Amino acid sequence: MVRHCVICNKERAAVKRPKTGQKVCRECFYYVFETEIHNTIIDNKLFKKNDKVAIAASGGKDSTVLAHVMKLLNERYQYGLEMFLLSIDEGITGYRDDSLETVKRNQQQYELPLKIVSYSELYGWSMDQIVKEVGLKNNCTFCGVFRRQALDRGAVMLDVDHIVTGHNADDIAETVLMNILRGDIARLQRCTEICTTGDGCVRRSKPFKYTYEKEIVMYAYFKKLDYFSTECIYSPNAYRGHARTFLKDLEVIRPSAIIDIIHSGEAFEVKKEVKLPTQGVCKRCGYMSSNELCKACVLLEGLNRGLPKKVHGDMPRDTAIIPHFNRIQVSKGNYDDSNKPIEESKSNNKIDQG
Ligand code: SF4
Ligand code: ZN
Ligand code: ZN
Repeated sequence: MVRHCVICNKERAAVKRPKTGQKVCRECFYYVFETEIHNTIIDNKLFKKNDKVAIAASGGKDSTVLAHVMKLLNERYQYGLEMFLLSIDEGITGYRDDSLETVKRNQQQYELPLKIVSYSELYGWSMDQIVKEVGLKNNCTFCGVFRRQALDRGAVMLDVDHIVTGHNADDIAETVLMNILRGDIARLQRCTEICTTGDGCVRRSKPFKYTYEKEIVMYAYFKKLDYFSTECIYSPNAYRGHARTFLKDLEVIRPSAIIDIIHSGEAFEVKKEVKLPTQGVCKRCGYMSSNELCKACVLLEGLNRGLPKKVHGDMPRDTAIIPHFNRIQVSKGNYDDSNKPIEESKSNNKIDQG
């Protein structure tokens, strides 16, 4: 017996939606997938007309689907957004260099201007060099702290109002679990927010907050999107790995576990008596920080202190500090309208180190 799609009741069902268990045809799957993201954007008032939005693009499935769907929804519903791709080059040979090639193809496919910001330019260290120095234990701490700041700095260079990231529902549920396991109250409160605005930071939001990873993979696969699926060669993040495995096990028994955990995270309230860190700015680089120095400056100082002489390329040691946050504005002329990737023009590729 042919089972028909439960939405249109006409076509043959081709997909069982991981999120709801509904059996639907491909066209209806695309439609509900895209419409749920549109509803998330509208319900949470993520954008205003004429906003300039940077899509954090790594070449992976999440950000590739994000770029595809953002472009499609922007046209379908006339959001009126001016969009860019913003990529971070952590300097991981055999991984990021290959995935950036995918981003450059996406840039052509989606006709969006692309800006690439590298750790080497910004911090004087690539992840390859950091791993040589610190090994494979804490490398993701360095990488995560540096990436967060690099994205903000890239956004300032592009002069955008907003960064969207491809964090999906599984990522957020995982983070809720990890913050509970670590007792990290400050992060637990923030990690389920769909949109964050730190002092002096660019607005950042997650249009895939309620989108299941499995559906993103299905969408990318059926639509034959061009994405990069290799894992980072320095990926030892065992703690997150355990949270992920636990979540996937729960999902098998009860698919709504992912959304349930997000809702639980949203419902947590921190008692008034609990002291939360107050936000200020880093006295060295001007980036937001709850301490005198931001995490990136502390990590960088540690790296530079333990640095054997002349390790990281041409950058003299005493200049290997992060440029001041407020002074890295780059004029709008830093990308051109012909949608060429910025890095094609070497003269435009340098971060204004102010
Ligand atoms: Fe960076 Fe770790 Fe992610 Fe690799 S796995 S990109 S080192 S955070
Ligand atoms: Zn259908
Ligand atoms: Zn700093």
